[in-house]
Amino acid sequence: MSAPARLSVRIDRKVCVGTSNCAEEAPRAYEMDDRASPHARPGATDDDILRGAEACPVGAITVFDPTTGKQVYP
Ligand code: SF4
Repeated sequence: MSAPARLSVRIDRKVCVGTSNCAEEAPRAYEMDDRASPHARPGATDDDILRGAEACPVGAITVFDPTTGKQVYP
């Protein structure tokens, strides 16, 4: 069983264009709501979070380590 996520996610909705790449690439970490807007989901692993962020074509997803406050992606 994979470790639960340590990382946290910020999705910039002004940048997001609703492609759903994040949710398709990492459905345990991201899901689209009924307005085609993505949300971070609980229960994802850090790998899920990073894979979905890397799939975003417009760089709308930023990933942080909340224990250090440092940005880890991009
Ligand atoms: S991949 Fe990026 S642009 Fe596409 S829905 Fe996710 S956050 Fe928005």
